[in-house]
Amino acid sequence: MLIQKFGGTSVGSAERIKHVAELIQDGKRKIVVLSAVAGTTNALTEIVEDLYRGNKVAVEEKVAALTKHYEALVDQLFTSQEPKKEALTALDTHWTHIRSFTLDMFTRFEERTVLAQGELISTMLMQFYLEERGVKSALIPALDFMRIDQQSEPDMWYVQSNLERILKEQKGIDLFITQGYICRNHFGDIDNLKRGGSDYTASIIGAAMKADRVQIWTDIDGMHNNDPRVVKHTRPIRKLTFDEAAELAYFGAKILHPTSIQPARKAGIPVELKNTMEPEKLGTEISDEASGDFIKAVAAKDGITAIKIRSDRMLLAYGFLRKVFEVFERHRVPIDMITTSEVAVSLTIDSTERLDQLLEDLREYAQVEVERDQTIVCIVGHLLQEEEGHAARIFGALSNIPLRMISYGGSKNNVSILIDSSWKAEALKALNRGLFDLEA
Ligand code: ADP
Ligand code: ASP
Ligand code: MG
Repeated sequence: MLIQKFGGTSVGSAERIKHVAELIQDGKRKIVVLSAVAGTTNALTEIVEDLYRGNKVAVEEKVAALTKHYEALVDQLFTSQEPKKEALTALDTHWTHIRSFTLDMFTRFEERTVLAQGELISTMLMQFYLEERGVKSALIPALDFMRIDQQSEPDMWYVQSNLERILKEQKGIDLFITQGYICRNHFGDIDNLKRGGSDYTASIIGAAMKADRVQIWTDIDGMHNNDPRVVKHTRPIRKLTFDEAAELAYFGAKILHPTSIQPARKAGIPVELKNTMEPEKLGTEISDEASGDFIKAVAAKDGITAIKIRSDRMLLAYGFLRKVFEVFERHRVPIDMITTSEVAVSLTIDSTERLDQLLEDLREYAQVEVERDQTIVCIVGHLLQEEEGHAARIFGALSNIPLRMISYGGSKNNVSILIDSSWKAEALKALNRGLFDLEA
């Protein structure tokens, strides 16, 4: 069994949907996971904001724009009138559903229902298209098997038993289409796996089905050594370990949702990153096998807040760090980076949701300073500490950039450096030249 996930740009137009429909017809038994058509989840997010504000006019306008966009797409996708009509009727029910939320209270429950429409629509269109082309396939609704528990972790037993049952019911079919991103929570309500979550869906399904491999098809030929949105000359990495890929995804390489490879990794299933537009390119293979260069890639994560905690009581005292960490635990705020000296500890967080309460509690023990708009630059590879000279190359490359915090030795796979966000582009370019001998 193969799991193939196609992202928003891969199904971003009628042409692209047709192209994916060709790609997935190679006779292999598979589950195809689709994202929403590019731009749709963003549009739905804006509609959600208008619904919270009770701005009916804005909702109407945005739904009208979506309707127009999809009418053109349907027109180009189908050749015969019957499926065209069927698709338009189905689309109408989605738009009516969204509009209906202007009439009543709008809460988190309705929000998630609105956000789910993008994937429900893209998979409906693909299934109708495959039917028009006479391809034997079945649409299996993710809301019938994908579920997260109280801790927002995938409920693997539920996913596995329901998927197995659903696939068994579809006798003689080898091509299954399903929605990425959307799921049910432990109440049974519609929920989602957070932005970019279709990658996670594919990995969860892969683990549940003990698939041979999970393929993430996107608009670039695999994980690159640097962020292509910031640096011009980047190159694909042929092989990564799960640890390296996880660090890169967590520290900003948008090609992968941060937690997406965990289920595949636990189940020992290789993950491949492939380019939908250039399927012949090798892409990146993520597995347990270490290989290649010691320093493989850099990534950057924005929106970081640094907190400096200083107390004379920390000098020669034990138990101080425990108290500090307890505050973070109480507020359920995860820490990304940490450095300590004899009288101070600095750490970073990426969510400011509970910041005010957190700071109030910390100020009971210490003086606290906060710096916002920080970026973590993460240099990823394997066994960095066992070869000499890596640190010198990294810091040599960054010699003109003010470094706020440095974390080295915490993991075999990464060196993390905190800088002010205004230095991010310059830092990534300097590392491209200094570590990879590439133009910036
Ligand atoms: P999809 O819609 O297919 O899920 P995403 O936009 O989520 O695609 O991810 C692909 C994008 O990730 C690429 O177009 C690229 O701009 C961005 N990206 C950021 N960092 C990297 C990296 N290190 N390697 C490859 N792509 C990256
Ligand atoms: N459609 C969702 C998003 O845009 C999920 C995904 O594409 O992975 O975030
Ligand atoms: Mg994505």
